[in-house]
Amino acid sequence: MTLKAGYPFWLIKDGLPFTFPKLDHDIETEVAIIGAGISGALVRYHLINAGIKCITIDARTIGLGSTSASTSLLQYEIDVPLYKLSEMIGKDKAERAYQLCSEAIDKLGEIVKARGADYFEKKESLFYAAYKKDVKGLKQEFEARKAAGFKVRYLEAEALKKEFNIDAPGAILSEQGAQTNAYMLTHCLLQHKHKGGKANDIFDRSPVTNIKHNKDGVVLKTESGHTIKAKKLIYATGYEVVNFIDKKVVDLQSTYAVVSEQYNERDFWKDEVLIWNTANPYLYMRTTPDNRVLIGGRDEDFSDPHKRDKLMKRKTGQLVKDINKIFPDLKFKPEFVWTGTFGSTKDGLPYIGEYSKLPNSYFALGFGGNGITFSLIAAEMITDLILGKENKDIELFAFDR
Ligand SMILES: Cc1cc2nc3c(=O)[nH]c(=O)nc-3n(C[C@H](O)[C@H](O)[C@H](O)COP(=O)(O)OP(=O)(O)OC[C@H]3O[C@@H](n4cnc5c(N)ncnc54)[C@H](O)[C@@H]3O)c2cc1C
Repeated sequence: MTLKAGYPFWLIKDGLPFTFPKLDHDIETEVAIIGAGISGALVRYHLINAGIKCITIDARTIGLGSTSASTSLLQYEIDVPLYKLSEMIGKDKAERAYQLCSEAIDKLGEIVKARGADYFEKKESLFYAAYKKDVKGLKQEFEARKAAGFKVRYLEAEALKKEFNIDAPGAILSEQGAQTNAYMLTHCLLQHKHKGGKANDIFDRSPVTNIKHNKDGVVLKTESGHTIKAKKLIYATGYEVVNFIDKKVVDLQSTYAVVSEQYNERDFWKDEVLIWNTANPYLYMRTTPDNRVLIGGRDEDFSDPHKRDKLMKRKTGQLVKDINKIFPDLKFKPEFVWTGTFGSTKDGLPYIGEYSKLPNSYFALGFGGNGITFSLIAAEMITDLILGKENKDIELFAFDR
């Protein structure tokens, strides 16, 4: 599967900060992690901190899956609004899912600080109605979030114009939110207690081509014919999990992102809040620490890479028009443009934990617009499961939910 195309901004900005060897020998370990994107990196970080010996293996050069394409907005707001999710799975469970995402943002901030990684900044999040017809749902969503204890403020059209200079029929302003650089964070996490040489525990460019799930462990075979024997396996394979699992858990789509040229002045919009809207597909916007503006969206319902990539020029034109309409004074000039595969689930929630048909393994599948916060939740839950600790939230994201 080709997960992305074009020039993802952070890949250009940060390049290849660290390199890793291919697997060229057989290994036995406690836990094997397939995938070294943000999900695999967070799982490894938590396992190592819990004293669990693990090795990480990736088919690509590290980070070059979806993680390098991520626009790295961190929101507690799941793709399915809270009031709708409550109708789908019940109020308590829906609120708990939102709370876990909210806590995940702060925990990611703490991890970034602990690792001395290059970027994490708290930002408020502004969710505006794209059309008048969306106002009713937006107000319902505001009430649901307020009742659940989230710090939110409703802005009528007039207040939205006055405070943020946005012409829209209304918006919810949430206190909780942040932005990061998932690509560099992944690299920083993988450096945590990473040993080089003979003790090396991270391998890239080593596709796993066969996996046997036995009663007492798993045996992985790589393309080069080497074997990894482990007691437990973590699938942190991102959207390519569809190659390993017979259950349909995700709809694959395509999304597009554009980053502007650098501006001299830093007066984009008030407080540089994260911005997204109620359109379907929705638009999402943020700023970068080096004075750029990013807009993403214009998703398509297919993931065929040929069709997806052919649309990049047209999508760029549309996204530039979109942002110039919202902020005409920006005079947005695109510099980096890319597209990536994106996945959504039936309820906007990820799949985390065990899948009964594949014993001795756990899945860390942070699908959706909040993939990164879900990855953090997955890392914590899987570590608990491996340590034999009870985690009551696991049923929210179970395969048989
Ligand atoms: C354009 C775009 C914008 C996004 N914006 C946001 C955002 O603003 N906020 C947010 O939270 N999320 C966002 N996401 C989603 C987020 O980027 C993903 O959820 C996240 O990067 C997934 O990380 P991952 O580690 O699960 O997957 P990946 O980064 O894809 O890593 C999985 C790894 O598994 C490896 N792998 C797969 N199969 C095998 C195999 N057989 N053998 C060995 N290795 C294998 C792959 O090579 C890959 O490197 C966005 C996604 C895209 C595409």
